[in-house]
Amino acid sequence: MLLHQITQFLETIAPACLQESYDNAGLLTGNASMHCTGVLISLDCTEAIVQEAIDKNCNVIVSHHPIVFSGLKKINGNNYVERTIIKAIKNDIAIYAIHTNLDNVLQGVNGKIAQKLGLQNVQILVPKKDFLQKLVVFCPKENAQQLSEALFAAGAGNIGNYSECCFISEGIGSFKPENGANPQTGEIGKRETVQQSRVEIIYPEWLKGQIITAMKANHPYEEVAHNIINLQNKYQAIGSGIIGKLAEPVEEIDFLNKLALVFSIKAIKHTTLLNKKIETVAVCGGAGSFLTAAAKAAGADVYVTADVKYHDFFDADGQLLLADIGHFESEQFTIDLLFELLSNKFPNFALLKTSVNTNPVVYYVL
Ligand SMILES: [Zn+2]
Repeated sequence: MLLHQITQFLETIAPACLQESYDNAGLLTGNASMHCTGVLISLDCTEAIVQEAIDKNCNVIVSHHPIVFSGLKKINGNNYVERTIIKAIKNDIAIYAIHTNLDNVLQGVNGKIAQKLGLQNVQILVPKKDFLQKLVVFCPKENAQQLSEALFAAGAGNIGNYSECCFISEGIGSFKPENGANPQTGEIGKRETVQQSRVEIIYPEWLKGQIITAMKANHPYEEVAHNIINLQNKYQAIGSGIIGKLAEPVEEIDFLNKLALVFSIKAIKHTTLLNKKIETVAVCGGAGSFLTAAAKAAGADVYVTADVKYHDFFDADGQLLLADIGHFESEQFTIDLLFELLSNKFPNFALLKTSVNTNPVVYYVL
């Protein structure tokens, strides 16, 4: 197994281009062409995790948080980040981080939290714009069906829970082959008019390369007339946070108990109870204060997140229950998620979940 087989697969789930601009997800140490002896999956990558990888004969660490986040100018071993990188490089350990790109997909970090809470009808809380493109391609009428099938197979035509979506219309196309052309129909120097189909289909922009390749491979013409259009539509499957509904409404205190049980936590920081039942639940693993307004606007009864600062609790403003369950705690199931994704794809490969608890926060409970 080569490392790039693992990273390429993970990027079909959470493409690297979906990471936020401040992020540093991707391959941090190691080379994509190296042979993997085993993969250790963790939430954070620390010296203890690198040691665990060495001890368990894993030369690849897949972690959610990138150990190198805002860049390193010196690598002297003066802090835990530098020491972790030195230890990884000295021991030929590759570190791959799958961070906000995994936060931003429906089946990612927040999808897993929603699953653990039993949420139904889950949707992205704040879908992102600018990730959808439309291909418009013109072809002979008799080729339209085969061409659209090839585009579906390349990943185009998915809208929400629908696949194989496209629009085909018909019209008259004209062209005049010039010297040097090798036309499928028509003659050099003579204008030709033919019945053509116009095939329109959408796709996420990161699939553009393979969509265009499929288009050219399945089109009879030497020159393929086509347009690529950037759409402003929101992409429902990509964005921040998730919102969904419980199977039935529960009392606030019962919901908090459920949080404590599911996430194995002894303390929850939350705003004043509002004495109304909880049915609609918004979640965002990790630091999610930036979504409180969106959770309110979407009608959430509770917003479950972490790293909420004192003043940010005021933003709940009596409109929802805001619950901070801790950063590590909120994202702990990301390890299971990555393990499930990788073990389904590579069932016979050595995959391990870390047994090191990397949470830097501990609670003193009376
Ligand atoms: Zn996080």
